[in-house]
Amino acid sequence: MQVVVLGAGVIGVSTAWHLLQRGHEVTLVDRQADAALETSFGNAAQISVSYCEPWANREAPLKALKWLFDPEGPLKFRPQLDPAQWLWGLQFLAQCNDAAFERNVAQLVALGSYSHSALKDMIATTGIEFNRLTKGIAHYYTSQQSFDAAGNAADLMRRHGVNRRVVDRDELLRIEPALRAFGDRIVGGTYTESDESGDCRVFTQALLQRAQLKGLQTLMSHDIVRLQAQGGQARGVVVRDRTSGITRTLHADAYVVACGSYSPALLRQVGVRAPIYPGKGYSATLPLLRPQDAPQVSLLDDQLKVAMSRLGNHLRIAGTIEVGGYDLSLDTPLARTRARMLVRRIEEVFPGVADTRTPEEGGDPQFWCGLRPATPTNIPLIGRTAVQGLWVNAGHGTLGWTHGAGSGKALAELLSGEVPAMDFRFCGMPPSGANGSRMRLHQA
Ligand SMILES: Cc1cc2nc3c(=O)[nH]c(=O)nc-3n(C[C@H](O)[C@H](O)[C@H](O)COP(=O)(O)OP(=O)(O)OC[C@H]3O[C@@H](n4cnc5c(N)ncnc54)[C@H](O)[C@@H]3O)c2cc1C
Repeated sequence: MQVVVLGAGVIGVSTAWHLLQRGHEVTLVDRQADAALETSFGNAAQISVSYCEPWANREAPLKALKWLFDPEGPLKFRPQLDPAQWLWGLQFLAQCNDAAFERNVAQLVALGSYSHSALKDMIATTGIEFNRLTKGIAHYYTSQQSFDAAGNAADLMRRHGVNRRVVDRDELLRIEPALRAFGDRIVGGTYTESDESGDCRVFTQALLQRAQLKGLQTLMSHDIVRLQAQGGQARGVVVRDRTSGITRTLHADAYVVACGSYSPALLRQVGVRAPIYPGKGYSATLPLLRPQDAPQVSLLDDQLKVAMSRLGNHLRIAGTIEVGGYDLSLDTPLARTRARMLVRRIEEVFPGVADTRTPEEGGDPQFWCGLRPATPTNIPLIGRTAVQGLWVNAGHGTLGWTHGAGSGKALAELLSGEVPAMDFRFCGMPPSGANGSRMRLHQA
């Protein structure tokens, strides 16, 4: 089959890879000059199968209200004159209850473990190196009240087959001795040994190169201008070369939309609505001054709701979510506050370990922000749309790196008429597994 994959983030490249593996002829299109230059570029680097709770939970609405006027608040709703944002907000609120939370966790764990084995297979096949660390993820708490609640979350995860251990401070410091300097602030933590970390951009770009050697056709630096459909059937996609300005129409047997936060706008052109809205997040990547004292275990900081991962000779800290449109600026007062907060936290937790100086002071921090393609449930949309021949693989929210390998594999399987071996609600497909039920992407 001839397939055009739209978008070369971790999801699109992984999809293209798995389609090639199944013998399809694949063309990949992206507006950037290389893969993973948008949201897949600077994320927190966690492959966190076991820490996958969605942001929508019973307590989220109250917390979001509390954080509305706090520039350092982890979750910020910034109201826009955009009906899509309000609709998304209402759908998010509908997920803020225990029943929905547990249902969503079950799906996210299923996709996570499927994806983890797909990723391991891909690493074994390709030998790609991406500053991978297989030391697990530890979540540390500085508030006794929050730590007490961590046991309930661990119980819930255990019910879904996830081995998340509650550990006291001493054990946590044995697991990650680099936390020692901050140890007297820590009351305890949780730990999942099987989780990992690694650089999503490096992996995705290397995978793209391997795929090109296997025959992948790429149209990089090409804008995807328009999807075309007629009589309920996908007919083509109009793309424009950003250098020459030349426009042309690509035709294929199937088209996969994997454009992250920009997927809804493309899908809307052919009448398909997708509940995806951008959730802006930030990261700071700092050179290490004392590598021997830097963490190897990837970390979650409960107070600030940020994640930290070691990437070779750098330490990255990332987090916070702003639901406020497609703005990608780093020089607004809010963005500057968030960047400062991230760097300050590194200095508090690992004093003197990384170079936390500002550029004015001679430091070299790399600040970045990206738009998580967030669905109200945090469950991605993988499968067919109501338009024949048009598929979607988007909406991976906070977990696109964790779920990338498996989402790409699952979409390639579905498109090839295979049934992915996991209990998951794919779009437009018959139920798969006990929790499965048909999910439709509506056509307006
Ligand atoms: C601060 C932060 C921390 C995160 N931490 C983690 C983490 O630790 N673990 C984890 O699992 N996930 C994490 N994530 C989430 C993860 O990064 C995303 O879910 C993932 O990158 C989404 O991948 P994607 O391929 O769907 O989107 P993208 O990477 O954005 O790719 C979409 C591609 O489509 C292209 N495109 C879009 N529109 C067009 C158009 N019209 N024409 C041409 N090209 C187009 C873009 O150029 C882009 O390359 C984090 C995200 C953020 C922001």
